[in-house]
Amino acid sequence: MVLRMVVGLVLTAVALAIAGRRLWWLGRVALSGQPAPERARYAKAHLAGDLKTQLTEVIGQRKLLKWTVPGAAHAATFWGFLVLLLTIVEAYGALFSRTFYIPGIGQSAALGFIEDLFATGVLAGIVVFTVIRWRTSPRKEGRRSRFFGSHTTAAWAVLWMIAAVVVTLLVYRGAQENTGVFPYAGDGAWPFASWVVGRWLHPLGYGVNSVLEAVFILAQLAVVLAFLIIVVYSKHLHIFLAPLNVMFSRRPDALGPLEPMRSNGTVLDFEEADPDVDTFGVGKVEDLSWKGMLDLGTCTECGRCQSQCPAWVTGKLLSPKQLIMDLRDHAFAKAPYLLTPEGQREGLPEAARAEAERPLVGGEDVNGVIDPEVLWACTNCGACVEECPVDIEHIDHINGMRRHQVLIESAFPTEATTMLNNLERRGNPWGLAEDRRADWMAELDFEVPVIDGKIPADVEYLYWVGCAGALEDRAKKAVKAIAELLHVAGVKFAVLGPAEACTGDPARRLGNEFVFQMLAQQNIQTLNEAGVAAGSGKKVIASCPHCFNTISREYPQLGGNYEVIHHTQLLARLVEEGKLTPVTPVTEKVTYHDPCFLGRHNKVYTPPRQLIDAVPGTTAQEMHRCKGKGFCCGAGGARMWLEERTGKRINEERIDEALALDPDTISTACPYCMVMLGDAVDAKKAAGQARQSLEVIDVAQLLIRAVKLRQDQPTQAPPAP
Ligand code: SF4
Ligand code: SF4
Repeated sequence: MVLRMVVGLVLTAVALAIAGRRLWWLGRVALSGQPAPERARYAKAHLAGDLKTQLTEVIGQRKLLKWTVPGAAHAATFWGFLVLLLTIVEAYGALFSRTFYIPGIGQSAALGFIEDLFATGVLAGIVVFTVIRWRTSPRKEGRRSRFFGSHTTAAWAVLWMIAAVVVTLLVYRGAQENTGVFPYAGDGAWPFASWVVGRWLHPLGYGVNSVLEAVFILAQLAVVLAFLIIVVYSKHLHIFLAPLNVMFSRRPDALGPLEPMRSNGTVLDFEEADPDVDTFGVGKVEDLSWKGMLDLGTCTECGRCQSQCPAWVTGKLLSPKQLIMDLRDHAFAKAPYLLTPEGQREGLPEAARAEAERPLVGGEDVNGVIDPEVLWACTNCGACVEECPVDIEHIDHINGMRRHQVLIESAFPTEATTMLNNLERRGNPWGLAEDRRADWMAELDFEVPVIDGKIPADVEYLYWVGCAGALEDRAKKAVKAIAELLHVAGVKFAVLGPAEACTGDPARRLGNEFVFQMLAQQNIQTLNEAGVAAGSGKKVIASCPHCFNTISREYPQLGGNYEVIHHTQLLARLVEEGKLTPVTPVTEKVTYHDPCFLGRHNKVYTPPRQLIDAVPGTTAQEMHRCKGKGFCCGAGGARMWLEERTGKRINEERIDEALALDPDTISTACPYCMVMLGDAVDAKKAAGQARQSLEVIDVAQLLIRAVKLRQDQPTQAPPAP
């Protein structure tokens, strides 16, 4: 007993010292990042009002369970480990007394059963993981594998390690059954797995079983302690960090609004900011906030983000997983430099100083950590953030680096220059004259009031048309349909016409926070002067999901608060209230493409589908990738204005998926998506790969066919003469 106790305690002391040293180092690395006081607010919200979400996220494994089989395997392993913490207590107790049991519950047969149930659950999970990893290994699937680029050898080692934790546990418990010190009362078969192992070991006799009991208790503790060390030195660090990362996440704002620019934890005021003193975006890894650093350490390399990323799927260099791993490897390699006081860095090893000199963004020629092609390939679609089981905020990392590249380095794709200039000079990305914003109304057979000063008292809605809606030919048709539907339903609305300017979304997503703020402040002033601020009783209708997202969720950062509704939400309500009655059949197969900034970023999935269903005669078809797993059209993140030179075009990938359903109509609810998908359909038609009759339209255009036809063509047969 004494030897068992001494060996067990020495092993524990050594392992805790190694793991503790590593955790201390990791903590210092994380805190070398910028302050992030706003995260305390998020944590408070998660822990107070949002505790249920926190529990479903971490304990309930919500995001993991969206992937049924691997999610169930992970949940079984995670829950198993929670329960098996009790067996570790028992193993430590057995170092001091062979007959140890946890006071109060330790002799209950139910506890023995539960422990064995979860132990076998962990083993089953490991078997499933093994099969998944084997079937989808990068060697077999190449870059289609979500594990492509992950540290697979370490992952295999950990799988075997976890299996060893359970096997050693069952062997010592089986031996305990035979030596008579197994603590559980009543029928010894309740802890069924231990009982089975005990039956196997029984023929070896009391002496051998006593030795096995002692050796495997120590082996169990040794494996657990070795596992602890592996965890803190590997991607399995997420076991400790994931709950923290989830607690401090920006959820639900990690999708939707971008973060304001901060320097040293304070929101940057461009009037006062000094590039020599302040942090402009992320130009060095230590410009990340400590939460950004925490993200890097938390990544499990599961590859869920990578498998859903439209850039990666279509053959671009960008993988959100690889981006996080590259930043992490760089942060760890640069850590000796970061953790050494400035005057003492000369004495650092050459490798640490060389790592410190690597540019964060740069091509192979300058040994950059993140290739510029990676940085600019992102569409900000949010699939990575949505999928990540540990709430890593990839878009914040990407846009932080974009901000620095644009504002400090002036290094961004040259084709974006025109768009930015147009925004600054004309307030729209195309550089068209302001008065062209009213052109679309010329085709209407009714008047839309253009606000000149304050919105009239009897007008409830301000329709924010958006640049594409006002100026792009295809999008204009959707805007016209929306206006007509509102008119038919008797909704009183007005527009800003030439007084409307771009919300600033393309500038902000590109990283030009300065231009964004300029446009946002101008629009906020216009909207406030129009008298539509929140609390005024007036509402803003946005038909562009980018405008919808920016006005409703980003303008509050600058003091502009409005009640904003997307046109699909309003139209669905009008149909429900009977103010729009689509009765004329439109006999078509219709598939719906979820715009990322409406769906994933703002969770508006149902109203557009309700509109399609409301049109009689339509057969709604869902693409394989829809709703939360929807696939981007390729336009977000200012990608609409950038060339797509590598791999397959994202819009063509999406259209190929739609064409597999052979639809008559592809519908959507975003002018950007209409343009991108429309272009891809045109290319397919030109190549003879799509029917000439195939259309890409807004759901409002579909709805108005059923509503308008009814007015033009009486649906009831004329009375018999
Ligand atoms: S936001 Fe979309 S495009 Fe950008 S990294 Fe994430 S998944 Fe890829
Ligand atoms: S970032 Fe998240 S989803 Fe992507 S590999 Fe890491 S843990 Fe998985």
